[in-house]
Amino acid sequence: MKVMLINPPYSSSKYKFIGLVAPPLGIAYIGAVLESGGFEVEIIDGAALEMNWKSLEQAINKAAPQVIAITALTPTINQALETAKLAKKTCPDAMVIMGGYHPSFNYSEILEKEYVDLVVVGEGEYTMLELVQTLEDEGDLKKVRGIAYDDVVTSPRPVTADLDELPFPARHLLPMEHYKILNMKLHTSTMISGRGCPMQCSFCASAALHGRKLRLRSTENVVDEMEYLVEHHHAGMIAFMDDTFTLNPTRVEQICEGIMKRDIDVYWGCTARADTLSNNMLQKMSDSGCITMFLGVESADQQQLDRVNKQMTIEKIRRAFTLSRKHNIRTIASVVLGMPGDTRDSIGRTIKFVRELNPSYALFSLATPYPGTRFYKESVENNLIKVKDWSKYTLLSPVLETVDCSIDELKNMQKKAFRQFYIRPTYVLRQLRMDGPIILKTIAALMKEV
Ligand code: SF4
Repeated sequence: MKVMLINPPYSSSKYKFIGLVAPPLGIAYIGAVLESGGFEVEIIDGAALEMNWKSLEQAINKAAPQVIAITALTPTINQALETAKLAKKTCPDAMVIMGGYHPSFNYSEILEKEYVDLVVVGEGEYTMLELVQTLEDEGDLKKVRGIAYDDVVTSPRPVTADLDELPFPARHLLPMEHYKILNMKLHTSTMISGRGCPMQCSFCASAALHGRKLRLRSTENVVDEMEYLVEHHHAGMIAFMDDTFTLNPTRVEQICEGIMKRDIDVYWGCTARADTLSNNMLQKMSDSGCITMFLGVESADQQQLDRVNKQMTIEKIRRAFTLSRKHNIRTIASVVLGMPGDTRDSIGRTIKFVRELNPSYALFSLATPYPGTRFYKESVENNLIKVKDWSKYTLLSPVLETVDCSIDELKNMQKKAFRQFYIRPTYVLRQLRMDGPIILKTIAALMKEV
């Protein structure tokens, strides 16, 4: 049985503006598990390949798979549905499946489309393996945990307890030369070293999909994959895409020691929580090649941080940026403007605060309630959502108002935030010294997009 896994064509990711084009690791993991089960797999990354509908149709037609599975996030759901429609038209006998964050929380809405046969709910690796096996054996779909189809919703599948048992993602099926970070010329790869999160930030769906228990791959397994990426994919840069890579500082230090012990020559970057950073850990991270860190700031207003249950203080955020600078690690500050309770005044203070933090880059997102989050539930209950078109849930378009900011005002404040941060001679000169002329391209792309 041949399975095609598709990341739909999509060109407006906010991460593209900071020069990040990342491989779809979710379907690459599924591809690896299916291959290890003996199935033939093809992956199409329509976003990285910048495909259009015609070229996608040709690719589906040529492969003629029996199963076509499409991954979707909230902002890509329209393209994913369009892909599903095209898949059904091109291969009417194939089973068309959808999975990923958005379908997992909205399977009823998706199953209303006659061209979607089934939705995988939750983590997909072993559900897909069992599903494809059941289809091949013409077995009973009702026995497959973690799926929804017709009016059937099977029992939930527990998350994979031991992540070390998963094979490395099937990168040999991906167009690896198309991926990059911060527009660097280095060959870029991504990895995930753990899943799940015990914190409960109201705007985050991580725990809803992956559970509240933090599941970490062993240090050896993580460093093995890094070594593999350098040796087999000539990776010059590896970005850890974990929801929060630094949640367990001891493990981070062990990974750094593993990289140095094996003398792996690679730059790397990660996501981090401000309150997990220490001098000792950052020193080891820097010594082992860490050059970039994505740090959640969210707001300069302590009340707002408390309201979204960030469990963080302004002082800890300040300290994290100072420490990172001391260890020469570039920082990308992630900021959210327009959460309920935010006012013109608090947004203005946040914009100013981010300039004071002096990160290498700043991403000013507009508050966006994604399905699966507490923020979404509360926004629906309180009738706050003004825009229901999922394609606008990109973090760059306002979808709800605050107490005293209209949708238009929020968009203007976001523009102002980007301009006031990036169009500063001192900033541009510093980044030119650090990143070279590529920074001008990044700023130009940002200004054009916002
Ligand atoms: S935002 Fe980060 S720390 Fe908060 S719940 Fe999500 S993954 Fe955990």
